[in-house]
Parts: sequence; structure tokens; C-alpha cells
Amino acid sequence: METINQESLFTPMTATSSENAFKAAKDVLVGGVNSPVRSFNSVGGTPVFFERGSGAFLYDLDEKPYLDYVLSWGALILGHAPKCVTAALHETLVKGTSFGAPTVLETKLANLVTECVPFLEKVRMVNSGTEAVMSLIRLARGYTKRSKIIKFRGCYHGHGDSFLVEAGSGVLTLGIAASPGVTAGAAKDTLIAEFNDISSVKEHFTRHPGEIAAVLLEPVTGNMGVVLPETQFLTALRTLTEEKDALLIFDEVMTGFRVGLGGVSMRLGVTPDLLALGKIIGGGLPAALYGGRAEIMDHVAPLGPVYQAGTLSGNPLAMASGLATLTELRTHEQNHYGILEKHGHRLETGLNAIATELKVPMVVTRMGSMMTVFFTTLSKMRNFNDVTSLDANRYGQFFHAMLKQGIYLPPSPYEAWFLSIAHKDADISKTLTCAQRALSEIISRS
Ligand SMILES: *Cc1c(COP(=O)(O)O)cnc(C)c1O
Repeated sequence: METINQESLFTPMTATSSENAFKAAKDVLVGGVNSPVRSFNSVGGTPVFFERGSGAFLYDLDEKPYLDYVLSWGALILGHAPKCVTAALHETLVKGTSFGAPTVLETKLANLVTECVPFLEKVRMVNSGTEAVMSLIRLARGYTKRSKIIKFRGCYHGHGDSFLVEAGSGVLTLGIAASPGVTAGAAKDTLIAEFNDISSVKEHFTRHPGEIAAVLLEPVTGNMGVVLPETQFLTALRTLTEEKDALLIFDEVMTGFRVGLGGVSMRLGVTPDLLALGKIIGGGLPAALYGGRAEIMDHVAPLGPVYQAGTLSGNPLAMASGLATLTELRTHEQNHYGILEKHGHRLETGLNAIATELKVPMVVTRMGSMMTVFFTTLSKMRNFNDVTSLDANRYGQFFHAMLKQGIYLPPSPYEAWFLSIAHKDADISKTLTCAQRALSEIISRS
């Protein structure tokens, strides 16, 4: 940090190994990346290529450290390469990496998850959040024998065809309203409602009586940035879906085990019929699951007619990593979630104080250790419409000014920042100091 103290944060970074790596990647990987938001399209510049991670830090190809607030998009709640996870992986690795047959690890992880989220009576392991939600929708349709689903503008549920309609984050960033390749047939069974607006949901039920299989949402959104449900919104959805014999599905791929042991359903006490989990439950390896009441889940093959399968599903390495992560979280629940809340609160209040002092119009939204900083003149964020008021250009400037100081924020304004238990008090202090400097420079130039 000291070495750049005299230099403006607006001077572009000098050529790094990442630039060369990105050039080479672009020759053979589409856009140089394997997932679009990684490309820095929405903030400009060259994506940083990382060599390794340790605790709260990532290290690029030139060994420059970055305090990481992306954490593999929230998966790494214990930070990078925690001992409990790497030890479990070593132990599992030497026994073989995949059997295509049952292992005890799968039952152990399923038991641990269902103990933390008791309304889950049965679960099915899959490899990604996308797969979990896609499978849930098939199940919801198979179970209810209805075809339509309601999703919310700005919510992201992976890249399944039915969800690439008014989706968040990557899709927002790239300005793809509905992706080419998604047929009108697939899109027509997806109805769009507004987050925090129960009347927009009721309208669909009135217009399509007996046709709606499920209402699907991120109960706390992360993929249009963090937007919190207003009091009664989730309970109103619960009551309405029960009235209409439709299923309520929470996509907690991001919030599961992030906002507390279990997730939003446990923290706010609203019980959906079906739930998708991912990210944290794989502890940094590809694992996700879907589950719910046994009576519904028993419609999945081999017990029922709804087909879903996977060569690597329940992979032993992914199960071992998830088990180690969730065991650590459950064993030290109060301590870990207490620290996450404390640091989240400090970051939020610190950033708000800086914004007030510098007169930067800004809203910070947060639940526990996930938060978003919106550069907006609005005073709160209720739904997607509010979110689109954000100043993407200002976020891009802020992102690069922070990156230059060794703070790695999400490379898009429509994403959540995450904390891990490896983030220390001093890291939060440093982040606030860097943010103060970044925003001062941005203000003095605008
Ligand atoms: C990340 C995410 C997904 C997709 O998960 P992948 O593992 O990337 O397929 C789905 N829903 C939500 C809420 C997510 O945050």
C-alpha cells in the first residue's frame, strides 16, 4: 500500500502477469473466462489471475496480495484453504476421487444439512446451484402437474432456460434481457413478479388459476445485489402459495449457511416446501443439493417418475469438503456467526460514515456477512427497479481504486460482497481506510 501512496488511484496499474495470462486465455477460452462476470466487462480493465489463496487473502501471479471480498462468490465462508477442509480433502483424495456408487460421506453430509435445516426431510446431491434449481422446477411441475412458475425480476437461479428471463448479476451486467437460445416456449411458462410486492404475485395467480406450480425466489437476494425482504413479504408468499396449492421454493444457494446456520428460512422462520443449497455446502468444491418434505421428494427417481441423475453427484471430495466446512460452522456456530455479524456491521457503519462525511449518495444493504454498496440517490432498495438506479460508472471507479490498494471487490455493481471468518478486525480497518481514500479521489474528480 505504501508504495502507491503518492500516486493517484486513477493511474492505471502497470502491465502485470495477469494481462499476459488474459491474452493467452482469450485465444482459447471464450472471452478468456469460464463464467462471464469474471471477465471484468462491467468494471473495465483486465481480470486478475490468481495463483493461490490463504485465509482472507488471494495472491496474483506476481504474488501481490488482495483482501478478498468475493470468496468464490460466497462459497468460502471459512476463507481460503482452511486447515479443516484441506486435511479432510487430503484424507479423502488418497482413497480415490470418484466411484459412481454410494459412499457414506453423502449420507453424513445429508444428515448434517437436515439437522441444521429440519424441514428438509430428504435431499438429493448435485454438482451446481444451476442443477439444483433446474431439478427443483422439474420436480415442482411433476408433483403439481402444473407448468408455470413465478420468479422475481432481478433474482438469479443459475442458467437454466426457465430462469434466464429477467435474471440478475451476470445477465444484468452484460445487459442480456433474455438470452438468445432460450425458446419462447421455455420463457412463456416463467411469470415475472416484483420483489417485495405481493400484489404482483397475486395478479399472476388471478390471471392463471390452477396453472402455477411454484413461486421461486432468493428470500434475501444477492444476485441483483443484496435486497432484503420487507417484514411480511415472505410470510405473505407462504400464505398465498398454500391457498393456491402451489409450492414455495427458496433458492438459498447463496444465503444457505451464509446468513446463519441453515439460512434465511431458519433465520426468519419462514418454511418453504422446497429448498436449493449450494456454494458454502461444497466448501469450495462443486456441490449443491435440493430437498424438502419427503412426500414431495419421493417423486424423484428412483422412487418416483421425475428423472434426475449425475455422474459425479455426491462426489467424495466435494462431500468431504462440505462436511468439514459445515462441521466447523456448526461446532463454533455462535463464535463464527458472531464474528461475521460484528465485522459486517463494522464495515456497513464505517462505509456509511465515510459516505456521509464525503457527501457520496450511497446505500449499504446487508444481512450478516453479505452486503452490497449501491451508489444511488435513493434512500433504500426494495426491488429490481430501485437497483437499476445505481451509478455503474462510479462503482467501476471505486472497484479499481480499491483493487489498486489490494482490496478485491466483486467486479460488478450488482453483486454481493462477502466476509469470511478469516477476515480480521485489522482487515476491516484497512478496507475502510482504502474506501475513504478511494471515494475522496472519486469525489474530487467528479
Ligand atoms: C450462484 C447461484 C446459483 C447458481 O449456482 P451455480 O453453482 O453457479 O450453478 C443459483 N442461485 C443462486 C441464488 C446463486 O447465488
